[in-house]
Amino acid sequence: MKIYEYQAKEILAEFGLPVPEGKVAKSANTAQKVAQKLGKRVVVKAQVHAGGRGKAGGIKLADTPEQALEVANQIIGMKIKDLKVKRLLVEEAINISKEYYLSFTLDRKAKKTVLIASSEGGVEIEEVAETHPDKIIKIHIDPFLGLQGFQLRNLCQALHLEGDIAKQFSEVVKKLYRVYTECDCTLAEINPLVLTGEAQWLAADAKMDLDENALFRHPEFIPLREASETDPIEVEAHKRHIPYVHLDGNVGILGNGAGLVMTTLDMVSREGGKPSNFLDVGGGSNWETVKSSLEVVLMDKKVKGLFINIFGGISRCDEVAKGILEADKHMNLKIPVVIRLSGTNEEEGRALLAGSRFASAESMEEGAKKIVELIHG
Ligand code: GDP
Ligand code: MN
Repeated sequence: MKIYEYQAKEILAEFGLPVPEGKVAKSANTAQKVAQKLGKRVVVKAQVHAGGRGKAGGIKLADTPEQALEVANQIIGMKIKDLKVKRLLVEEAINISKEYYLSFTLDRKAKKTVLIASSEGGVEIEEVAETHPDKIIKIHIDPFLGLQGFQLRNLCQALHLEGDIAKQFSEVVKKLYRVYTECDCTLAEINPLVLTGEAQWLAADAKMDLDENALFRHPEFIPLREASETDPIEVEAHKRHIPYVHLDGNVGILGNGAGLVMTTLDMVSREGGKPSNFLDVGGGSNWETVKSSLEVVLMDKKVKGLFINIFGGISRCDEVAKGILEADKHMNLKIPVVIRLSGTNEEEGRALLAGSRFASAESMEEGAKKIVELIHG
């Protein structure tokens, strides 16, 4: 789960890492007010889940609050890698002397956390890997021993850091390692980690990926996810623990198993329809989960028809059929619905639906064709 730079910086600050003073703003006017309060030269930064914002024009300096308003107006609403900018981070500008790269992430092959550092910060690390592979330092960390003193000393030496600057740098590295482990990150990255003209270390940028499977240990991060997700239907689906992805068509899809649902999306598209969503209702679902899932799909008012595609394995088709009928009693679906049941107890399932107003299909192809026909006339 990705979080925004301003959220990541709040976490870094809690762990005692040096970050520039600043505040998030949801409008250009608020950005101006933040700049006014900071009372100095500021940098206005687009908050989107993508890197390379600098190059895309999403990061601009402003000398006065009026200028901050002007650049904020330019940045807000712009698109960076297809993501619309809805928030800005307004921070005190930094007097940059040198830019470094520092991150912790998981090396799946080594089955260990890896520290990655470089004296060539500021550009994306993939780019450094291509242009200056010799300038990338990698240190693997034993999960039982943690980050060791000698590793920090080796790192400082490799980066040619000495004296107080090396000492302060080691503190930054240790703290970032604490962030990485204690917050259950899959990535904690500072790029650039700036050495200022005043010989201070400052995290100019921050990127954090949190392990969603560890969210149960971090209830404090759940609101971060909600703030990150901009689609209200996806937010609602997540609250209900339903795997759901919102798409922009009008054919509602409900299936069991990710592979089957993906294929269903393809089939509907092949027949000329446009799916409105991906939704995996899961195995062994009862009528309440079916109803809950249908409610989520129908939150999208563009949905003009539903295709329910179930392969009965652990789920029994008669149970699913009961679920659909029960859900219908509570919801009174008014749009066309096509149901395809196949697998365990399919005859019983189809028999249950026989008297209903729902159209049935023997195969996935037939079901896809039928729902598209019903919607388009
Ligand atoms: P990114 O392009 O999305 O990675 O955003 P960054 O926050 O890393 O900013 C890109 C670059 O802007 C940095 O590498 C700096 O070289 C440059 N920059 C110049 N002045 C400033 C400043 O005051 N603050 C920050 N954060 N970046 C600055
Ligand atoms: Mn950056």
